[in-house]
Amino acid sequence: MLEQGTISIHTENIFPIIKKSLYSDHQIFLRELVSNAVDAIQKLNMVSRAGEYAGDIGEPEIQIAIDKDKKTLSITDNGIGMTAEEVKKYINQVAFSSAEEFIHKYQGKSDQPIIGHFGLGFYSSFMVAQKVEIDTLSYQEGAQAVHWSCDGSPQFTLEDSTRTTRGTTITLTLQGEEEEFLETARIQNLVKTYCDFMPVPIKMDGEVLNRQKAPWRESSNNLTQEDYLEFYRYLYPFQEEPLLWVHLNTDYPFIINGILYFPKMRPDVDVAKGQIKLFCNQVFVSDNCEEIIPQFLMPMRGVIDSTDIPLNVSRSALQGDRTVKKIGDYIAKKVGDRLKELYRDNREQYISAWKDLGTFVKFGVLNDEKFKKQIEDIIIFRTTAEKVENSETASVQVQSNEDDAWQDVTPSSDSPAATSGSPYTTLKEYLERNKERHENRVFYCTDAATQATYVELHKNQGLEVLFMDSFIDTHFINFLEREYQDVKFTRVDSDLDNTLLEQDKSGEIVDPKTNKTRSEVIKELFEKSLNKPKVNIRTEALKSEDPQGTPPAMVLLPEILRRLR
Ligand code: ADP
Ligand code: MG
Repeated sequence: MLEQGTISIHTENIFPIIKKSLYSDHQIFLRELVSNAVDAIQKLNMVSRAGEYAGDIGEPEIQIAIDKDKKTLSITDNGIGMTAEEVKKYINQVAFSSAEEFIHKYQGKSDQPIIGHFGLGFYSSFMVAQKVEIDTLSYQEGAQAVHWSCDGSPQFTLEDSTRTTRGTTITLTLQGEEEEFLETARIQNLVKTYCDFMPVPIKMDGEVLNRQKAPWRESSNNLTQEDYLEFYRYLYPFQEEPLLWVHLNTDYPFIINGILYFPKMRPDVDVAKGQIKLFCNQVFVSDNCEEIIPQFLMPMRGVIDSTDIPLNVSRSALQGDRTVKKIGDYIAKKVGDRLKELYRDNREQYISAWKDLGTFVKFGVLNDEKFKKQIEDIIIFRTTAEKVENSETASVQVQSNEDDAWQDVTPSSDSPAATSGSPYTTLKEYLERNKERHENRVFYCTDAATQATYVELHKNQGLEVLFMDSFIDTHFINFLEREYQDVKFTRVDSDLDNTLLEQDKSGEIVDPKTNKTRSEVIKELFEKSLNKPKVNIRTEALKSEDPQGTPPAMVLLPEILRRLR
């Protein structure tokens, strides 16, 4: 037997669920109502541009008003309004949105996206209100103003209204336990949090509450270095200037806009928590991008705005979402491109930023295969070489794409001495430079202070030493050993006999430069190192349990953060 049909829903049963459980957070009702108001204003713009509205659209604005005596909160817009028919269609039918129809009909008539989508936002008002009223007058000629009212049961009333101004007022009579939303400061805060970058002025008591301008939606060509810095200061006041930034801007295969900054790292900032703000069409969604941003980029700050991140699913489901994964990969790739660009075009800045970035880049390389492939050639190490010819410079390719606009200026570092002081080199350059003398050996130092004399010895013999002395290098050396199987990595103080000393004719082991015997050399090293302050043994203390394995990101990241600077 075959039967087909439509599943029916009992409004009485489902309505309380929609009201109570649609969103976990009551306060977002304001975000939803204000986005509807913004949409109503955008729609009026679109209709007007299409030549279908001859009237004056006026100065777009949204007014929020509180009446403590009546316990009401109202949101008024001077947008498109609704006819009685539209109220019946879009309000009385839950989960019915006009957004799609509208976008379809007026395509290209707006550079500002319509926020609405699911046709559910309006009902979030019942999370805090015992009664919701709509008073509205459509832009359409000869339209009759209407008043809709609903007390939270599936029954509503719809009647004519005496309203004479175009637009909509939504009035909420708040539930007893939700009266916090009658406090001006509370509403101001919510507007600041959720609606700061919405493109219409939101006023309360005559004062505009939101910034409106969302720089990430602009083309990077229109933004100056100062604009980027100003935005950073706005988002993160009283913080040091960022090291560099990446302006994300793509429409395909997903829409994503954003500006991500690499901040100067500070140990007291808990970056593992994430500081990137997630937006959807300029509406703030969350302070937490953990599921979207690859973990090694968590120290970044800034804004990501994407319509393609499914917001209506649970956060844990996001982790498995394929689009989200692709977005994460895209961001990592753009960060990689940006680093390569800086490496190619401004080596000095790259090197001075490296002091803060290096740890995270290496961390990324350890944790992300694609990122590793992309940037392994621009990982640099401080070296004892006097002068480093950057033979690789020309071969660093940065993929450029019409869609992706890059800012190629970065604030200058405050430590210019770093670059002129000691050269940095890539491993490839190192191996190439020392092809003959080293026989595919890499000498490295894990602690510049305690191993200083060993470094000196190597230098004296014309052997170049790399400094791998940051916390992450302990793990990174393991990784390098696995990557470069034919290269022998030797710590400067670990293998004296085989690297520095030689047998002389009589069979005695000596330093060929000075003819000092082995015991003389060791004694001298020992004495010298006694005079050196033992600064730290941090790299030793952090050797992973399993020396071959790289510890999982979860273990490493907090540790990195703890040890910064
Ligand atoms: P969505 O915004 O996802 O479309 P909502 O439940 O928030 O869903 O709103 C449903 C519909 O009600 C909207 O699509 C729109 O047609 C209409 N609407 C809501 N608020 C307003 C308003 N302030 N002005 C005009 N129309 C509105
Ligand atoms: Mg909505």
